[in-house]
Amino acid sequence: MRRLLINEKLCIGCYACYNACEHGVVRLNDEGYLRKISILEACREGCIYCKDICPTGAIAFVYEDFKVPQEILLAMASCVSCGLPMATEKMIEFLSKRVEHINLKVCPDCRRRSSQQA
Ligand code: SF4
Ligand code: SF4
Repeated sequence: MRRLLINEKLCIGCYACYNACEHGVVRLNDEGYLRKISILEACREGCIYCKDICPTGAIAFVYEDFKVPQEILLAMASCVSCGLPMATEKMIEFLSKRVEHINLKVCPDCRRRSSQQA
């Protein structure tokens, strides 16, 4: 049986795989300052959309009995302006290496508000 396996060290919790999967194999749940990515069932489809879209190469497929669901918990970073959770800490770290001109410590809503006031 084919199952999707996420490398927890590489996963940044961006939920691209969740968006790409049309069959609900990847589940996502945000609760306060914690994001949970869950793989609760085997993947019975032949596609590899989730693997193709993953920006960190965290996804692999293995062939084995699906006994234990995989759950990954990721800490959310909060906006330094409004304090609300905005993205995982690992996402912010990943993106900050690629975009230097955007203040990633502030959520998009607060960034828009401050640019309108300027
Ligand atoms: S391979 Fe396809 S069906 Fe299976 S988890 Fe990935 S996107 Fe979903
Ligand atoms: S696409 Fe990759 S990095 Fe993003 S949540 Fe899925 S496994 Fe993690």
